Amino acid sequence: SCGICVNKCPFDAIEIINLPQELDDEPVHRYGENAFALYGLPAPQEGQVTGILGPNGIGKTTAVRILADEMAPNLGQVSGDPPAWESIMDEYRGTELQTYLEELRQGDVTVARKPQYVDQIPDQFDGTTRELLERTDERGALDELIDRVGIRPVVDQDIDTLSGGELQRVALVACLARDADFYFLDELTPYLDIGQRMTAARLVRELADEGGRSMLVVEHDLAILDLLADTIHVAYGSSGAFGVITSPKSTKNGINEYLGGYLENENMRVRQESIQFEEHAPRTTAEGEVVVEYPDLTKSYGDGEFSLEVEGGEIQENEVLGVVGPNGIGKSTFAQMLAGRLEPDEGEVDAQLDIAYKPQYVEIDQPMRVDAFLSSITDDFGTSYWNTEIADPLQLDRIMEQDLTDLSGGERQRVAIAACLSEDADLYLLDEPSAHLDVEQRVRATSAIRRYAENHDATALVIDHDIYMIDLLADRLLVFDGEPAAHGYASPPVGMRDGMNEFLANLDITFRRDERTGRPRINKPGSQLDREQKSAGEYYYSD
Ligand code: ADP
Ligand code: ADP
Repeated sequence: SCGICVNKCPFDAIEIINLPQELDDEPVHRYGENAFALYGLPAPQEGQVTGILGPNGIGKTTAVRILADEMAPNLGQVSGDPPAWESIMDEYRGTELQTYLEELRQGDVTVARKPQYVDQIPDQFDGTTRELLERTDERGALDELIDRVGIRPVVDQDIDTLSGGELQRVALVACLARDADFYFLDELTPYLDIGQRMTAARLVRELADEGGRSMLVVEHDLAILDLLADTIHVAYGSSGAFGVITSPKSTKNGINEYLGGYLENENMRVRQESIQFEEHAPRTTAEGEVVVEYPDLTKSYGDGEFSLEVEGGEIQENEVLGVVGPNGIGKSTFAQMLAGRLEPDEGEVDAQLDIAYKPQYVEIDQPMRVDAFLSSITDDFGTSYWNTEIADPLQLDRIMEQDLTDLSGGERQRVAIAACLSEDADLYLLDEPSAHLDVEQRVRATSAIRRYAENHDATALVIDHDIYMIDLLADRLLVFDGEPAAHGYASPPVGMRDGMNEFLANLDITFRRDERTGRPRINKPGSQLDREQKSAGEYYYSD
């Protein structure tokens, strides 16, 4: 064993050996005897965007509920009367949190919060988008927000007819339209494409910069978090057991340390291995066997309200093909045609192909346990082979006995990825596997998908908007472009360099490399690097 891993070892090989010093002190909150305990709180700053970066189940929401005055911290006293506010204040005297907590105590602080799971909004609200949003219009900014995030076309639609990406933007607008001192945004990006992610980030920044508000953001898309946050708190610990929230770090260092797996000030290793990115475009690998060859395809809906044109191409055995492009551009339509679920208007797809498909919005709400559900999909369920290839990397052991209906968004996502990979297929199509997964889970899911494709002479087609995930995942790229909801165009699959250049040129975004770690970072539009890279046509790779 490495002897330095505080987190549960990502490879489940190592027990917790080295615990952080904080655990000698009383926690901020403990849910019960032997239950989850939280140490440390983030300190929101006026006029700043504060990020929280860390795994799921580590106490981020608990911290926020405390700061948002939704629950009082018990300082670890799980029996008897909860501690008086005076003792809570004493605990934080002389710290950055003191003023905040005092104001909270006096009722001088107002809070707005965007929930993590936007998919649940239709269960909680009956009515149209406009009806939902009008109740939140406290700053007179509603109309502008609606236009900037592009949800004008759906304002008169019933909430329960909206897609996940639309719901996410409605939820963002509902939060930002409020007049609060303190905004809490629990994941901005699920279901949004990169352009929409950038817009969301810009709106949050503006409220801090121009409005002087305090913004606290939990985000797992590191390219966006990097762009958005002034400082970040890293959260680490053992999921479900304890969580420690560090003092603020600069965003750049915080993300670098987190990816590297070692927190410098804390002298704490949180992961055995570092997460690394390729600075240089991978050389195009030797051509593999062709698993699908598809001709030019077209498809339109209704009276041509949306039309898609796909240029013919081939997909190779053993490869992971990343699929990128804005929402509403025809990616799922193409996937459905490959899966034989949708007939193209022109062109024909080889129907002999077995395809396993994970849709973007995971709906597995049967009243059934996870183990029963997965064993109904594959006879390999529970074999050591299946455990090694699927259950372990997707960390299913802890949720096997839970009901599907009780799963969190990230848990449901992992079960859905497992279900897809457990099918016997030639082609695995995964639509946004990153949604609701934390950074570590994204990396593990990525390697599970890669390994699976390699070991099964299969191919994976992965649609995702997290550029870090695409970078780690894809051998080649299939790029979609056009005008969302009107017409889409897909060129044939190409190598990573050409694909990234084509994709990012469409978005007008360039990336530079962090000098210490090689991590890709979005360039400021119009900066010298941005202009140089654009004129050289190098949007992503640096050689
Ligand atoms: P995160 O936001 O980082 O995913 P949470 O703050 O939601 O983490 O939860 C941290 C841990 O606390 C989890 O293990 C969760 O099951 C547990 N927990 C959350 N709320 C409660 C509660 N009301 N009672 C008991 N345990 C809880
Ligand atoms: P993406 O996967 O890139 O987000 P889709 O393939 O889901 O895009 O959709 C492309 C466009 O086609 C969108 O404008 C969508 O609203 C529309 N569309 C998708 N399915 C249908 C359908 N069954 N009937 C009519 N329009 C549809």
